Amino acid sequence: MKLIALLAIALLVVSAASSWAAGPPDRQVAITVDDLPAGAADRMSGAAIDEMTSKLVGTLRERRVPAVGFVNASKLFKWGEVDERIRALQIWLDNGFELGNHTYSHASLNRVGIKAWEDDVIQGEPILNQLLAEHHMKLRYLRHPYLDTGKDLQTRREAEAFLSARGYTVAPVTLDAWDWMYAPVYDDAKKRGDMALQQKLVSSYLSYSDAVFAYCEQLSIKTTGSEVMQILLLHGNQLEADHIGELLDVLRKRGYRFITLKDALNDPAYGMPDTYVGEEGTGWLDHWAITQGKPPQGAPVFPQWVADRAQHLQPHSQ
Ligand SMILES: [Zn+2]
Repeated sequence: MKLIALLAIALLVVSAASSWAAGPPDRQVAITVDDLPAGAADRMSGAAIDEMTSKLVGTLRERRVPAVGFVNASKLFKWGEVDERIRALQIWLDNGFELGNHTYSHASLNRVGIKAWEDDVIQGEPILNQLLAEHHMKLRYLRHPYLDTGKDLQTRREAEAFLSARGYTVAPVTLDAWDWMYAPVYDDAKKRGDMALQQKLVSSYLSYSDAVFAYCEQLSIKTTGSEVMQILLLHGNQLEADHIGELLDVLRKRGYRFITLKDALNDPAYGMPDTYVGEEGTGWLDHWAITQGKPPQGAPVFPQWVADRAQHLQPHSQ
């Protein structure tokens, strides 16, 4: 019996190894971090935001992982604290990372309409232009709040023409494990000193992320014929500051190398036909699948217990 069991295990090991004959697949991912200086900026002191930022940026730098941070400039202007809040952005830039525009006040194109949204994009620019110029960079990326790219095709195309005329490249997203949903629950557990819940949340976040990555790799093959150079959406929050190292390990184990957003965008997939419009923003793998008339199915289900706790703590944000 023992020998048979050993043989069975050996066969399993051999078959797993043969599907990854040359090691794990060579995968590539660019990291992006939205809602800077912090998703919960209105509930944090400038000093706390600086500390959180130093921790997050420190891990990325130590591991030589490139990243672009996307800023809501409205979060910088708090009476008496403007300098401290801007320092969080300087930490990003001083460590060699780039910043992009996420609109001034995190306005949804689908909700506020094209004119108000364009004004919000423009209002986000002056402080970013200034900070980037001090670091010999130019503002070039825009990330749509809520990934809302327009609820009809005319709005979508008008917004794209507007962005392109102002020198922007849109930063798409292909991987997204909703860390913003975990973040308020994690903050609350941390504030209450509930270590068990913190650990449970981190472990749920990492395993949900792993499932989302596996699903998106398959969806990418179905829609583009291969695995695209992925773009991961994260947010500026304490969960990432404390645990991004473990998330990077999950990616490494799947065979990912970390590349710049610029390099990811060289993937021709990002030029594929994309006519997605809808009330709800979503990632670009969904855009392509829906454009091709193949609505995606079987996405991993977000853990309900986390969603329930998040809903009790704060209204929807992303
Ligand atoms: Zn956002």
